[in-house]
Amino acid sequence: MDLSYWEIKSWLTNVDYTIVGSGIVGLNCALELKQHYPKANILILEKGFLPQGASTKNAGFACFGSLSEILSDLKQHNEQEVLELIKQRQEGLKRLRETLGDIKIGYKALGGYELFSEKDNALFEDCLSKREQINQLLKPLFKADVFSLKPNTFQFKSIKENYIFNQFEGQIDTGKMMEALLKKVQVKGIKILNNVVVEEFSDNENTVNIKTNKFEFKSAKLLIATNGFASQLISETVKPARAQVLITKPIKNLRIKGTFHLDEGYYYFRNIDNRILFGGGRNLDFKTEETTQLSQTDLIQNKLETLLKTTILPNTPFQIEHRWSGIMGVGSQKKPIVKQLSNNVFCGVRLGGMGVAIGSTIGKQLADITL
Ligand SMILES: Cc1cc2nc3c(=O)[nH]c(=O)nc-3n(C[C@H](O)[C@H](O)[C@H](O)COP(=O)(O)OP(=O)(O)OC[C@H]3O[C@@H](n4cnc5c(N)ncnc54)[C@H](O)[C@@H]3O)c2cc1C
Repeated sequence: MDLSYWEIKSWLTNVDYTIVGSGIVGLNCALELKQHYPKANILILEKGFLPQGASTKNAGFACFGSLSEILSDLKQHNEQEVLELIKQRQEGLKRLRETLGDIKIGYKALGGYELFSEKDNALFEDCLSKREQINQLLKPLFKADVFSLKPNTFQFKSIKENYIFNQFEGQIDTGKMMEALLKKVQVKGIKILNNVVVEEFSDNENTVNIKTNKFEFKSAKLLIATNGFASQLISETVKPARAQVLITKPIKNLRIKGTFHLDEGYYYFRNIDNRILFGGGRNLDFKTEETTQLSQTDLIQNKLETLLKTTILPNTPFQIEHRWSGIMGVGSQKKPIVKQLSNNVFCGVRLGGMGVAIGSTIGKQLADITL
């Protein structure tokens, strides 16, 4: 297709910054750049008709790590590094809430719960014995005890009598958050073109040539925010990790409220609109889930449904309304990759399972390294 003179002149000429990916990182990066350079011509290219990775697909946990996850992180990193990761998530959530406002993102401070299966004695005992130590570690950040014990008042089955409760965890409405973010970006005059796949690029010292599935053009700078799809464009070590989810139909008198982590975070569920949203199970088949295909498998969906029946809603009839999946970007380390790749090309990728918490900050950091 040949573009018109007008299309080329108004959309694809004198582009200062091109951002690939309209997820939470790409959009926050664009906002930050616009704040520094109000007159800059910023273009976001997105391959989906909507953002099509993780930012519109996720579970909306505004979380910074369950107790077992923090203990597991302490096996790979020292205390200072773990504290730094948690601080980044805490600050990222604050930034997200300040940028968009709690009402616009449907933020609810309902707390988070970690559940332990009846058979999980070793993990549960380990968490109990180290709870105080972790509370002390986190005190400089939260100024209060983060983790406490609560009895199983939601009457989940086959789990320990007590949960570990995190008073600082919350939940957002992911759709509302992304809608608000997209609106904010567009109001600032930042252009977004959907259904455009960036296929390759070359940095020629002063400009970057960018080839898409629809057209080619030049941009002064290129910023890559494609997370789980990053290795299709750049040679950073980011593996795609699919995460599958289902949601029930509305359930009458649903009492379950909050965000819940099960089996060391491999399963997670929450209430939303009188429904249960339930995801996880990647550990059943890591290899198959290392994909960018947005589809589901019987193995994982059946397991989610079984756990819903046996553990989460054992005495409540429910029906599944809908299922979907999203793609995360993971690696051997939890730290995201924010770096300059060449003169005019930069990336902010590998957000793992915490992008709601750190996406705003990583977007800002990506913008900042170009300044
Ligand atoms: C099912 C699920 C549940 C999750 N739950 C939570 C949670 O509860 N809490 C939490 O903190 N995090 C959660 N996450 C993780 C979180 O959603 C991600 O870390 C975050 O959204 C990553 O944002 P991003 O902008 O880096 O990537 P993405 O949102 O994936 O954005 C990247 C964008 O780049 C586009 N793109 C890719 N390649 C190209 C190309 N070549 N050309 C043009 N466009 C391209 C993609 O279409 C995509 O829209 C979850 C993720 C999933 C999948």
